[in-house]
Amino acid sequence: MAKKNPIGKSSKAAGGWGALKSVGNQLLGSGKPVSGVRIMLKANQPDGFDCPGCAWGDPEHGSSFEFCENGVKAVSWEATKGRTSPGFFAKYSVSELRTWSDYELENQGRLTNPMRYNAQTDHYEPVSWGSAFAEIAKELNSLESPNQAEFYTSGRASNEAAFLYQTFVRLYGTNNFPDCSNMCHEASGVALTESIGIGKGTVLLEDFEKADVIFVVGQNPGTNHPRMLADLRKATERGARVIVFNTLKEKGLHRFSDPQKKLEMIRGGSGSTSTDYYRPLLGGDMAIFRGMAKLVFAAEDAAQAAGKEPVLDHDFIRDHCSDFEAYKKLVQETSWEHIENQSGLTREQIGEAADLYISADKVITAWAMGVTQHKHSVQTIREISSFMFLKGNIGRPGAGLCPVRGHSNVQGDRTVGINEKAPAALMDAMERELGVPMPRERGHNVIDAIGAMMSGQAKAFIGLGGNFARATPDSPLIADAMCKLNLTVNIATKLNHGHLLTGKVSYILPCLGRTEIDYNSKGESQLVTVEDSMSMVHGSGGINKPASEVLKSEVKIISGIANATLGNGVVDWHAMAEDNDKIRDLIARVLPMFGDYNAQIRKPRGFRLRNSAAEREWNTPSGKATFSTDDLPEQTEWQRNQKDDQTFILQTFRSHDQYNTTVYGLDDRYRGVYGEREVVFINPEDMKKLGFKAGDRVDIIGCYDDGIERIAHNFMLVSYDIPYGCVAGYYPELNILVPHQTFGDKSFTPASKSVEVRFRLSSK
Ligand code: SF4
Repeated sequence: MAKKNPIGKSSKAAGGWGALKSVGNQLLGSGKPVSGVRIMLKANQPDGFDCPGCAWGDPEHGSSFEFCENGVKAVSWEATKGRTSPGFFAKYSVSELRTWSDYELENQGRLTNPMRYNAQTDHYEPVSWGSAFAEIAKELNSLESPNQAEFYTSGRASNEAAFLYQTFVRLYGTNNFPDCSNMCHEASGVALTESIGIGKGTVLLEDFEKADVIFVVGQNPGTNHPRMLADLRKATERGARVIVFNTLKEKGLHRFSDPQKKLEMIRGGSGSTSTDYYRPLLGGDMAIFRGMAKLVFAAEDAAQAAGKEPVLDHDFIRDHCSDFEAYKKLVQETSWEHIENQSGLTREQIGEAADLYISADKVITAWAMGVTQHKHSVQTIREISSFMFLKGNIGRPGAGLCPVRGHSNVQGDRTVGINEKAPAALMDAMERELGVPMPRERGHNVIDAIGAMMSGQAKAFIGLGGNFARATPDSPLIADAMCKLNLTVNIATKLNHGHLLTGKVSYILPCLGRTEIDYNSKGESQLVTVEDSMSMVHGSGGINKPASEVLKSEVKIISGIANATLGNGVVDWHAMAEDNDKIRDLIARVLPMFGDYNAQIRKPRGFRLRNSAAEREWNTPSGKATFSTDDLPEQTEWQRNQKDDQTFILQTFRSHDQYNTTVYGLDDRYRGVYGEREVVFINPEDMKKLGFKAGDRVDIIGCYDDGIERIAHNFMLVSYDIPYGCVAGYYPELNILVPHQTFGDKSFTPASKSVEVRFRLSSK
């Protein structure tokens, strides 16, 4: 049957009736439409659960509908009626399941029982928790060194699970913590630590109500942080300027129709979420901020010459900053030709944005993967910070830096110790508390773990959530390497492709979801906690009956493995698993910022972890906010390939029906694609130059010259408003083209936004 043409109209505005229709479909699809609504009314509520979606903050005084369309997708995906039971695994072999798509696998529903892979039958078979923990422990303890094991964490893990995990892994003897943030905001953490002494954003949600100008850079909130649209719209409605730098015209960054505004919905109305929109080339953001800084300095000189009020915040620079003169010299020596060629914007365009910055008193800059997944991302974020220092836009109301994190607790996991670079203060405190030495040598991040698996140095992989093999670059190479491991263990709510990459001994351990009640032995339901992008820590308590009586919480699973592997001589794992308050008490003892933790999280909306930079205290080597001294890259990938009209720069991104590697559906209605994921977005002129037309099927060929063939076969060309030489498509499907050797300086984040590719007509 001919495939329906997947290209259709894209919706006029983000949100709106399209969102309600999508919400309806998701709730119906979960098989529990009525209870689904009841569940959603508890999402992001003080007495409810934290949406397992993104890490956008919750307003102090929120509404009863504190969720978005993608929050409904995340929750109904978890609270589905579907079950992936032992019967399912008896029916389908692992080899067969490997041919299924990511969507088909997860769409089966919730895992119900611990499963062990039987290589003889090529099927997963049910086992008891006890035997699973015992065999996993035997395998871990049989390794020559703890450094032969990789312990992966997905940003969904709660603070309690992540803290207990790092305690277990460090007592086991390694710092091998490949972590999903290595693939997303690592560059933000590294750059901000260098610039302001803390790897986190400095603003609160309330600051978005005060800012005069909000820069939104390399971010697509319409899909990845949808509730942010309401905050941006409110800002434009009160006269603030929302200035967007994004290679793509993203629907959500133009207009938003708020489903909570009944009259507007009836009239089919919407409101602006931005006032100024610029389309830089991939990797061009650093050059933009360098150009704006150049104009700020020029405005300062003009003001001085005219005897007018200074443009720069001299008090802030004098009292709080270091390396100002070096930065000023660097900026003034950077040529406009370099800036314009690299950014893809004209001096006039950059000037418009700079004028808005100069005339504004309070400014916020927010960013996401479009900034963090390049080779020079750390330098870019340092440039953004330096630009913001010029007018003291940090550590005061309505002003500051805001890396918007993707996963609901990716920031929290890092705060409680998921870090291959063992934080000295935490290690000291853990040694004091537990009376045993902690491993101090640097462990493995994601890129290191990939290398260790491919070289055979790694023998075991434990995944606390996530879909490591699909989220990482060079997916086929990772898949091969994982199947050669002695042990693979995946703690998860739903089946995904990574679980089918079985080592000699392989387990899938099903855990409770965020919406489900975790009872302790006294029958009390337990709270877990998460930290959002604004450093707000709040409680989350499940409201649903678990999908299966056999399920255990992430905390109980980690305790079971830890107890079987290490015994409970140092930590009483059972006691910890029985009472999350005990885990929080231990966290508070070794991480003073969590003082009085258990009392604090029982306050509505929880509490804010102290952010030193937001109080203008700089934990940097100089004790000051530190201006960047990084040159602009000589050339970006786009510039390097400019002359060759056969080579393009690919960025991978999410569709609107996707959350990280979880695919909720096959539509991307904001981009007008329906029922299809094997698409590549290309500029119509570039397509013509190649002799192709929209709808043609092509093979996308990776150009990285290391002798490894990287080809994504049979993808459909979609004509799209994207700058020349730039193309885009979805991950995880296109991670096959991202070389594991290309990653960010200092961040080691795969450079998924600047991959060199070519096309040929598909032979299929
Ligand atoms: S904005 Fe993010 S956290 Fe909030 S409901 Fe949507 S997906 Fe969930």
